[in-house]
Amino acid sequence: MIFDQPNRRQKVLVVDDTETNIDVLLELLDPIYEVSVALDGRTALDLVVRERPDIILLDVMMPEMDGWTVCQRLKKDDTTKDIPIIFLTARGHIDDELRGFELGAVDYITKPFAAIVVQARVKTHLELKAQRDYLSALSTLDGLTGIPNRRRFDSAIFHEWQRAARSRTSLSLVLMDVDFFKLYNDNYGHAAGDECLRKVATEGFRRVVHRVADLVARYGGEEFVCLLPDTDHDGARHVAEVFRANVEGMRIPHAHSATAPYVTLSLGVATLIPSVEFDPVFLIEKADAHLYLSKKNGRNRVTSLDLGKL
Ligand code: GH3
Ligand code: MG
Ligand code: MG
Repeated sequence: MIFDQPNRRQKVLVVDDTETNIDVLLELLDPIYEVSVALDGRTALDLVVRERPDIILLDVMMPEMDGWTVCQRLKKDDTTKDIPIIFLTARGHIDDELRGFELGAVDYITKPFAAIVVQARVKTHLELKAQRDYLSALSTLDGLTGIPNRRRFDSAIFHEWQRAARSRTSLSLVLMDVDFFKLYNDNYGHAAGDECLRKVATEGFRRVVHRVADLVARYGGEEFVCLLPDTDHDGARHVAEVFRANVEGMRIPHAHSATAPYVTLSLGVATLIPSVEFDPVFLIEKADAHLYLSKKNGRNRVTSLDLGKL
């Protein structure tokens, strides 16, 4: 997310089965951007999911899966459809170019290409992408804490649920709730309460999750949520425990808590391999039920459930 890494280098994925083309493009783009390379369509699709590039330079004629197909697949998937694609191909006929645009590409460059023109077009499309990302980030960030909001979470869990169901991989969810937060507000005032939530969200959770698809969001009030795609139950428990220990370790004074003299969290974790016949709400309810158990059993703890395959 753009707010987390204001100076990050934008990522370019180059897809081409000819090494000499790749060498030229690398020389051109690598000094400016973070460039990754795929020599075939299937590798490209994998890399897109893993790396989330900001733009893709896509060859058309490749063995096994051609560039048209790669483009079609990416445009069909809600999580990848907004990544700009530039076709870079020897197919110079007007019908090919038209086809490229019809498939959703933002640009079409024919080989042999002039290096500086490729560079200029990539620059233009990356600037537009950065502006779009910025606006979309603004509308999905929580005003108080600056971390992603409920809206962003709702859309992320929907997409990750579908994806995990397709790939039969684990999806984990951590729900977290500040302990005795009403008493914190009553004792220190609402403004101090706001500041406390801000600190927990930024200092407590930042740097714990690293993978691109991981998401920490404000779920509402003093509740936070962490979505962990492709993460098994042990992994999710580990993340939850780090969150808990981080917040405890911040030692934010809370004289009226019955759990500790400082601010603590209760956490509920649930892991499953989703099925499209179920709704993601199921996972949230399970995590919530275990958050409730953490509250009941003394707070400042993690309680979890591994549901296996749905
Ligand atoms: P428990 O340990 O059982 O979770 O107790 P609790 O007091 O934290 O739970 P409860 O749900 O009763 O209270 C939550 C409080 O969080 C109530 C509300 O005043 C406070 N709160 C919710 N959102 C905000 C916010 O944005 N800012 C501030 N300062 N307080 C908030
Ligand atoms: Mg609550
Ligand atoms: Mg609470």
